[in-house]
Amino acid sequence: MSSLIRREIAGVPVAELARDFGTPTYVYDAATITQRIHALAPFDVVRFAQKANSNLAVLDLCRRHGVVVDAVSAGEIHRALAAGYQAQGDPAPIVYTADLFDRESLALVVEHGIAVNCGSADMIDQYGAEVSGGDITLRINPGFGHGHSQKTNTGGDHSKHGIWYEDLPDCLRRAERNGLRVAGIHVHIGSGADLEHLALVAGAVEKLALEAGDQVHAISAGGGLPVPYRPGDPSMNVDAYFVPWDEARKRLEDKFGHAVRIEIEPGRYLVAECGVLVTEVRARKHQGDNDFVLVDAGFNVLARPVMYGAYHPMSLAPCDDEPREEKDLVVGGPLCESGDIFTQEEGGFVRTQRLPDAKVGDLLLIECAGAYGFVMASNYNSKPLPAEVMIVDGKPHGIRARQTSEDLTRLETIPPVG
Ligand SMILES: *Cc1c(COP(=O)(O)O)cnc(C)c1O
Repeated sequence: MSSLIRREIAGVPVAELARDFGTPTYVYDAATITQRIHALAPFDVVRFAQKANSNLAVLDLCRRHGVVVDAVSAGEIHRALAAGYQAQGDPAPIVYTADLFDRESLALVVEHGIAVNCGSADMIDQYGAEVSGGDITLRINPGFGHGHSQKTNTGGDHSKHGIWYEDLPDCLRRAERNGLRVAGIHVHIGSGADLEHLALVAGAVEKLALEAGDQVHAISAGGGLPVPYRPGDPSMNVDAYFVPWDEARKRLEDKFGHAVRIEIEPGRYLVAECGVLVTEVRARKHQGDNDFVLVDAGFNVLARPVMYGAYHPMSLAPCDDEPREEKDLVVGGPLCESGDIFTQEEGGFVRTQRLPDAKVGDLLLIECAGAYGFVMASNYNSKPLPAEVMIVDGKPHGIRARQTSEDLTRLETIPPVG
C-alpha cells in the first residue's frame, strides 16, 4: 500500500474528524507540541513566538509546560492574557517585540507593565516618555540574515527589522537618557534559517552584549529553528545548537561577574509538525499534461505555498478500500485565482507532487501545517475561516469553531439611501 495513505491523526480516524468537525479543518496533536517543548530543555527560557499559531488552546498548553510568550501586536498581548499568562514576572511572561509601537500597543504595554523588546530607536524614546525607568531589551539586526525564503529573512540591510548593529551605541545612549536599563540583547535573523547561519548568531550576540556591557542579564537566540518539511530534510539538533550559545554565555558571565540567561524564541519549531490541514477532494480534472486534484481549502486557508512557494507533505485518507496507484498530481483549491495551488515553486510555477490517485470524497491531508497556517488564513472570496481541533490523549477537542456566513458580514452596514 502507498505510504502516502494515512487514515489516522494521533490515533483518531481522519474520517471521524471530517464527519464531526467538517472540512477544511486544522488538526493539532498536543503531544507533538509538548515533545518539542521538552527538546528545548537545555535553554533557560523557551519563549513561544505565538504569531506562528496563537490559538488560546495552544498558548494554554505552552503556559502549562513552562513556556513564556512573545507578542508582536496588541492583539497578541490580549491573547496571552486570555490564555492565563500574567502580565509581569521574571522571566517576563509576555514580551512585546516589534519595530514600532502603534498607539494601541504602546498604551497596552504601559497599562499592564508588559516587557518590551525594542527594534527601533523610536521605540526606546516613545516607551521612555511613558514609563519612569525599568528594563528593556534591544532587538539588533546584526547585518546578516537568513530564511527559508527571501520574504522570511529578517537580517541584513534590506530588512526593516531590528536596530542596525552600528546604531547600538546611539540606542544605548537613548536608553540611558530615558532612565532605562538595557537588560538583554536579542537577535532574530529569519524564519526557517539553516543551522550554519543560526550558529553565526551566537558570536554576533556575544559581541553586541559586550558592547552594551554588564547591564545585560539575558541574551536571546531568537527563533528561526528549521523544521523538516521535505522527506530527507535534517531534524534540528538542539543539543549541538546550544553549545555555541552556552559558550558565549559563559564568557559573558566571566566578564560581567553575574549570571546571564539564554532565551530561545521558536515559533515554527514548536508547532509546525503538530498540524494537519484536513480537506476534502471535490473535483478532478486534466488540463493538458496536468492532472488536477481540487480540494475545499485554498490559500484562504493555508497561504504558505502561494506566499513562499513552500512545500508541504501531503497524504490521502481514501473514502473506500480500493487500491490507489501513485500519480504526479497538481493540488489546487476553490478560489478564483490561478495562484490557488498548493503544489507550486517560489515564483508561482506549478509543480506536481507524488500522491495516491485521489477521487471526489477522499480526504486530502496537508501536513506540517501547524505553523503559519490558520494565523495567515483570510476571508478572501468570502470564505469563512476554518475550524481548529486539538487532539489530547487520543481525544479530539474543537478549539475554534468554523466561522459562519453571518460572521462574514457582521461588521458591515449599508448606508441609508435617499
Ligand atoms: C517570527 C519570529 C520568531 C519565530 O520565528 P520561527 O521561524 O517561527 O521560529 C521569533 N522571534 C521573532 C522576533 C519573530 O518575529
